[in-house]
Formats: sequence, C-alpha cells, structure tokens
Amino acid sequence: MIIDGKKEAANLREEIKKEIILIKKKINKVPKLSVILVGDFAPSQIYVRNKEKNSKEVGINSDIIRYPKDVPEKEILEKINELNMDKEVSGILVQLPLPNHIDNEKVINLIDPSKDVDGFNPINVGNLASGYKAIVPCTPLGCLLLIKKVEKNLSGKHAVIIGRSNLNGKPMAQLLLKENCTVCITHSKTKNLKEECYRADIIIAAVGVPNLVKRDWVRDGSIVIDVGINKQGKKIVGDVSFDEVKEKVKAITPVPGGVGPMTIACLLKNTLECFKAHLT
Ligand code: NAP
Repeated sequence: MIIDGKKEAANLREEIKKEIILIKKKINKVPKLSVILVGDFAPSQIYVRNKEKNSKEVGINSDIIRYPKDVPEKEILEKINELNMDKEVSGILVQLPLPNHIDNEKVINLIDPSKDVDGFNPINVGNLASGYKAIVPCTPLGCLLLIKKVEKNLSGKHAVIIGRSNLNGKPMAQLLLKENCTVCITHSKTKNLKEECYRADIIIAAVGVPNLVKRDWVRDGSIVIDVGINKQGKKIVGDVSFDEVKEKVKAITPVPGGVGPMTIACLLKNTLECFKAHLT
C-alpha cells in the first residue's frame, strides 16, 4: 500500500474547512495565522507561500510579516510580543531557519505557548513529553495520522525512529510512546542501524540522507514513513529507497506526496485548535 499523503491531507483540510464554516456561522469569527518570514531563502519563501495558499483555502486568515535578512533581533522579538497580545491572532509561526544573528531559542521561547502552532515552545515540548495536552509539531503529527490510516491500534508495536531532531525525531517518539509503542530512537552515532531497523514494525526516517533505508533493512509487513526531503539532481527523494522497499512492506509513504502535504494540513489543524482554545 502506498499511503497517499496528498489525499489524506485534502481530507483533513476539508474537515477543517467545514468546522471553520460552522464556527463562522455561529460567532462570525475565523482563525488568523501570523507568519514571520525573515530574509529571502528560496525554500522558506515557497513553504510560506504554500502555507498562505492552504490557509486561505480552508478559511483561515493568514498574514505574512516579511523582514529583510539583516533585521535586528529586537524587532522580531517586539513583533512577537505584539502578536502574543493581539486577540485577533490565533497562531504565530516563525519560519525557520532564521539568519545567524537571530537567536532561535529566544524567538521560540517568546511565542505564547497557546499560539505556538509549530509546537516548538518548551512549554509545549514539556507538555507533550509529560503526556499532557500539547500543541504537537506538525510533521510528527502528520506522520502519526498517516500511520493510523494503516493501523488503528499501535499498542505494543516496535517503532524505530531514525533521527533525533527537536522538529521530528523527538516529538515523534513522544507521540508513539503515547500510543503504547516500544520506541527506539536512532541517530548518526547508532551502531548497527540496519539491525535496529530490521526489528521494527514501524520505521520513521527523518534523517536528510537520500535513500538511506534499503530493502534489506525492513521486515516484511512493516510500515515505513519517509519524512526526508532531499534534492538529487532535479529530483526530490526521501530517506528511503522507495522503489525497492515498497515491494516488501505493508505500507509506505512516497516522497513527494507523503508526509509533506500532511505537515501543512496539520499546521492548519493546530491553528484551528489554538483558535478554539482562545474562544473558551
Ligand atoms: P536534522 O535536524 O538535520 O536531524 C537529522 C537527524 O538524522 C539527526 O538526529 C542526525 O543524527 C540523524 N542522522 C544523520 N545522518 C544519519 C545517519 N547516516 N544515520 C542515522 N542517523 C543520521 O533534520 P530534520 O530537521 O529532523 O529533518 C530530517 C529530514 O526531514 C530532512 O530531509 C528534512 O528536509 C525533512 N523534513 C521534512 C518535513 C516534511 O514535511 N516532510 C518537515 C521537516 C523536515 P545526530 O543527531 O547524531 O546528528
């Protein structure tokens, strides 16, 4: 089974759109997502444009606040304070990476946790790790939703995550623990990565190394989720050697068209959740 991330993302967007229409009918309000974009890094420009387009489609107002790459850090921090206080703003996203002179940590820590649609603020990270209600980073949330389309009950499954970033690997591990999986997080210093992967019922590859996971790394009947986005010439490929692995596994996400579309749909979901939380 090839997991169709585009289709699942479209379904999720449709659900979000319907819910926003209902809320608007009742209280004449819609969510607003404010995005801070610093500099002219081409991939960030594309991501932000996609986020804006997708937001509009589901009825979320989006506001892109652009700064030149040499903007003083202070100006960004002041803007975040302003957005934190603004009752019209449901969600705040600072597009990463930021230029080197801006301290990522300071920026992320300043975002009001109840508007932190990326789920990167340590309050949300801590809540997720404690098993409390939290805003969950969009990519791992999207991965979990895709896995659950294949297998509803993950209890007791052996999950192997390749990559331990704050963005992907670590929150993914927390989500799978919550689902009662036995979780193994691997990284660049892991010995016998192939053997670790071969033990898995579920593999999540979030590495950034093209075609790292090979056919003989995966067991028959496993589920493979490929988070990687790697440029190979003009092609975009994942972290999994898709053509050889797909023949063996129960389900796999393609790149592109797998996790990527779900990430944006989950951003919209998080924005709606933040909006609803502010209504109560
Ligand atoms: P990252 O911060 O660079 O983390 C990569 C992780 O992979 C690190 O933990 C690193 O280990 C580990 N690693 C590197 N080489 C390895 C190897 N040979 N064997 C085992 N582990 C290895 O990357 P990220 O931000 O998590 O992103 C990972 C990939 O996902 C990238 O391709 C990125 O473009 C993609 N991505 C996709 C989406 C989406 O929506 N689909 C969203 C975000 C990111 P150490 O910790 O030991 O260095």
